[in-house]
Amino acid sequence: MNGPGEKRFYIETLGCPKNAVDSDKVAASLLADGLVPAQHAADADVVVVNTCAFIEAAREESIETILSLAEARRRGARLVVTGCLAERAGAELAAALPEVDAVVGFAAEGSIAETVDLGLPRRKPSGVRDLLELPRATPSAPWAYVKIAEGCDRACAFCAIPSFRGRQRSRSPESIEAEVRALVDGGVAEIVLVAQDLAWYGRDAGERGSLAPLLRRLDRIAPDGLARVRLLYLYPSEVRDPLVATMLELDTVVPYFDLSLQHCDRSLLRAMKRWGSGEQFLRTIETIRSADPGATFRSSFIVGFPGETEPEHDRLLEFLDAAQLDWAGFFAFSKEDGTAAAGMPGAAPEPLVREWLRECEDVQDAITRAARDALVGSEVEVLVDSRDGDTGQFVGRTYREAPEIDGVVHLNADWGRPGAIVRAHVTDAVGTDLVAKGVSR
Ligand code: SF4
Repeated sequence: MNGPGEKRFYIETLGCPKNAVDSDKVAASLLADGLVPAQHAADADVVVVNTCAFIEAAREESIETILSLAEARRRGARLVVTGCLAERAGAELAAALPEVDAVVGFAAEGSIAETVDLGLPRRKPSGVRDLLELPRATPSAPWAYVKIAEGCDRACAFCAIPSFRGRQRSRSPESIEAEVRALVDGGVAEIVLVAQDLAWYGRDAGERGSLAPLLRRLDRIAPDGLARVRLLYLYPSEVRDPLVATMLELDTVVPYFDLSLQHCDRSLLRAMKRWGSGEQFLRTIETIRSADPGATFRSSFIVGFPGETEPEHDRLLEFLDAAQLDWAGFFAFSKEDGTAAAGMPGAAPEPLVREWLRECEDVQDAITRAARDALVGSEVEVLVDSRDGDTGQFVGRTYREAPEIDGVVHLNADWGRPGAIVRAHVTDAVGTDLVAKGVSR
C-alpha cells in the first residue's frame, strides 16, 4: 500500500553484471526523485526494464520481459525501457511496442520520473546521463559491482558493444574511490570491478597501466572494511606485469583472473580481430600459476565463429585440457547486425555448433569438478553472503568464486552473519558448490 502521494518503482535487469550497476544507479536516481522501491512490478507506478542487446537470445528475452511486465503492471503504471536495447534500437522499440511509455537511452536528458511525468514535486533532479557518476543505493549483499569505465576502444569482429556504448570513458580514481568508500561504509566487504575492457582503464585519459595504481588506491580502504577487490573482464594482452604483480601483491585483490580469451586458435582470433594465441594464453596462465599456485582462472569462449571447423574446435578442446581453467563459459556465435563478423562466410551449421558446445562443456565440467573436489579437506576463508531462508544455513564464497557467476560455499555453521568473513573446513563438493564447516569467525 502506498503512502499518500507516494510513488513506487520497480526495476527488472537483464544481461551482464555491468547492467546491474546501471540498474543500481537508475534506482538511486529514482530514489533521489522521491520514489520508493516496490517489491513487485504490480505494486509500482514506474516499471523500468534495463535491457540487454548482446546477442539475439538476450534481445528476445528483453522483449519478452517488456511484454510480460506490460501485462503485470497495474492500471496507469508507466513502463520505461532503458539499457543496451533501448540504445541500440530505441526508435524501432518505441514504434513496435505501443505499451511502452518511454524508451530512454544512455544520453537521455532529465530523470526517468520527469520523462514519464509522474507529477512529482521536483526534488534533486538527476538525469540518466552519466549514469557512471551517479550515487547508488546501498546493496543488500556484502558485495557490489563497481563500474570503472564505460564503452570500449576495441573492435572485436563479433561484438556490437562499441557501436552503441561508444569509446571508452574512464571514471576518475577519486570518483571510484568515493563510491567504494560509500559502499564499504554501508557494509560491503567485496568490490567487483567491471568495465567492458577492465585493464584498458585510464587509456582514454592518456594513461597506460592505470589499473594497478587504482588497485593500490583501493587497497588503502582495507582498514575500513574492504576485504576483497575482484577484477572481471581482462583482455589477455593487458594481463602482464605490473598488473599481475600488483594483483598478487595486494592483500585486498583476490588472485582471480577472468581472462577474456574467446578462442585459442591464432587464425580464428585474428579473424575475430583479437590479440593472442593458445600458446601465449598458456604462457600467461603458467607464469601466474607459478607465482601463485592458488590463482583461479575463468574465461569465456565463442563456439562456431565463421571459419571454425573441426581442427580449430579440436584445438580448443586440447587448449581447455592444457589450461585447466577453474571456470569457463561457452557461447554459440551470434551474427550481430553492424559487426564485421555478420558478413563473414563459413559459419558452421547450428546442429554442429550445438554438438561442439556440448563437447566443450563436457571437457570443462570435468575440469571444474576436479578442481572443486581437490578443495575438499582444505581450510578456506568464506565471505558470508546470505542466509538460506529454508535451511537456515549460511551461503558464501571464497576468493575462488565470483558472485552470481561461479559456485558458492554452503556453510554448515549455526553462527555467522552476512558480511562476516569466517574460516571453514571444506567437507564436500557438490557440483560446482562446496560444503564447509565453520571453524572460526
Ligand atoms: S573487448 Fe571486444 S568483446 Fe569486449 S566489449 Fe570491446 S569490442 Fe566487445
